[in-house]
Amino acid sequence: MPDFDYDLFVIGGGSGGVRAARVAAATGAKVGLAEEFRMGGTCVIRGCVPKKLMVFASGFSEMFEDAKSYGWDLKPGGFSWPNFRTKLHAELDRLEGIYRKLLNGSGVTIHDARAVLSDAHTVTLSTGENISAKHILIATGGHPSLPDIPGAELGITSNDIFLLDEMPKKILIVGGGYIASEFAGILNGLGVETTQFYRGDQILRGFDDEARGIVADGMREKGVDLQLNTNVAEMEKRDGGIWVKSTTGDEAVYDQVMFATGRAPNTNGLGLDAAGVTMGRKGEIVVDDYSQTNIPSIYAVGDVTDRVQLTPVAIREAMAFVQTVFHGNPTKVDHELIPSAIFTQPEMGTIGLSEEAARDQEPIDVYATSFKPMNHSFAGREDKVLMKLIVSQATRVVLGCHIVADHAGEMIQLAGIAVKMGATKEQFDQTVAVHPTMAEELVTMKEPVRKT
Ligand code: NDP
Repeated sequence: MPDFDYDLFVIGGGSGGVRAARVAAATGAKVGLAEEFRMGGTCVIRGCVPKKLMVFASGFSEMFEDAKSYGWDLKPGGFSWPNFRTKLHAELDRLEGIYRKLLNGSGVTIHDARAVLSDAHTVTLSTGENISAKHILIATGGHPSLPDIPGAELGITSNDIFLLDEMPKKILIVGGGYIASEFAGILNGLGVETTQFYRGDQILRGFDDEARGIVADGMREKGVDLQLNTNVAEMEKRDGGIWVKSTTGDEAVYDQVMFATGRAPNTNGLGLDAAGVTMGRKGEIVVDDYSQTNIPSIYAVGDVTDRVQLTPVAIREAMAFVQTVFHGNPTKVDHELIPSAIFTQPEMGTIGLSEEAARDQEPIDVYATSFKPMNHSFAGREDKVLMKLIVSQATRVVLGCHIVADHAGEMIQLAGIAVKMGATKEQFDQTVAVHPTMAEELVTMKEPVRKT
C-alpha cells in the first residue's frame, strides 16, 4: 500500500467540495482542498446568495409603492447601487471567512491554488507542488456559457453583474431559464429598463405551463419587456452602448447585454485526460450513482457532473460520497422529487411533475386555483397567485405541486415534504387550513379543474 500525502484531496471550494472535505475530515481522514479563486464557490460568491440579496433589494420598489395603500406616507429616495454593492461584498467576504474557518476548524488543509490532475492519485498545484491522495474529489462547478452570436463577447454574464461599477439604465437579458428570468425581475425592480429575449414560446421551459405563464404575465405586469421567440442576431459597440439587432429585425441600443444562456462544467485544463477520466458530450464528468468516475480513486460531485445544478443537490452528493468512501456505507443520491424555487418576481416554487409531463405518464386530476392575493389586491396590484396540484387518478398520490406566489420558495419546501412522502390528495385535505393565507388553498381545493 503506497503512502499518500492525503486520504482525500478535493479540487474546488464550493458547496459540494467544502462539505465533502469537512465531513470527511471529521472521520479522522487527512484532507486537503485546493481552490483557485474564492472559498464558497458559485452559490456563495456569484450565485444564490448575492442573487437573493439582490432580490430583496429589488423588492423594495414595490413595497414603497404599496405602503401608500396601507396608509404610510413614504417618500423613497433612489436606489444607490454603490451603497448596496459595498454592503453586499462585505457580506460575501464575511461568508467566505466562515467557510475558511469551518474548513480550518475541521482540520482541512487549504491550498489557495489551482489543482490539475496528473494521474489517478496525483494533482499538481499552480505553485508547482505535486500532491498525492488516496482519493480525489472533483467539485469544480461550472461557468456561464456564451452563445455563438456575432459580438457576444461584448455581453456580460451573471458572474459580472455583482461587480458592475454602475447600474445600467437599460439592459437586455438573453435567455429564458432560471438566471435570465430571475435577473430580469431583479434589475426591473431596481429601476433598470429591462428587456428579456427568449428564443422559445415561453420562459422557464420544462416547468408547468400554467405556472410559467403566470410568472411571465406577472413579470410583464411589473414592467419587464419580455420578448418571446426572439434572440440576438448580432451586436456591436455603437452610440455609447451596445447596439443589438434581434432575430425579429428590431434594433436597439442597451447599456449592457447580459447572457444567461446556460452553464457549462468546469473541466477544461483539469488534467482529466492525463488521469483517464471519462467526460460526456457537454464536457461533464461522467459518474455512477455513487459519484465515482471510471477511475476508481476519482469521484466528482456538483455542477461539474451536470446532474441537477442546485447547491443542496451538490451537498447531498458530497454527503453520500463521504458515507460511501469514508464510512464504508455505499450511498446513492436520490435525485427524484427535488423541490426548487425560482426567484422570479412573482416567485415560483415547484416539485414533481408538471401537468404536461404527468399527463403523458398516466391519467391525472388537476386541482388549481389562481387569484389575486389579499395583500396585493388591497394595494391595487394585478399580481396573480397560483396553487396547483397534479394528482394521479389511479393512486390519488400528488405527483406535482406548483406554486406562484410571494414566498413560494418557502411554501414548496414544506409542501415538498408531503409530496416526497407520497401523500395523496385526500391526505393533503385532512390537514386543516391555516386562514387567511394563500397556501390554505393547497388543502381546500375540492373539485379538479381538469381530468386528463
Ligand atoms: P438554464 O439552462 O436554466 O437556461 C438557459 C437558457 O438559455 C434557456 O432558456 C435556453 O433556451 C437559453 N439558451 C441556451 N442557448 C441559447 C442560445 N444560443 N441563444 C439563446 N438562448 C439560449 O440555465 P441558467 O444559466 O439560467 O441556469 C443554470 C442552472 O443553474 C439552472 O439549470 C439551475 O439548475 C441553476 N440555477 C438555479 C437557481 C435556483 O434554484 N433558483 C437560480 C439560478 C440557477 P432553451 O430553453 O430554448 O434551451
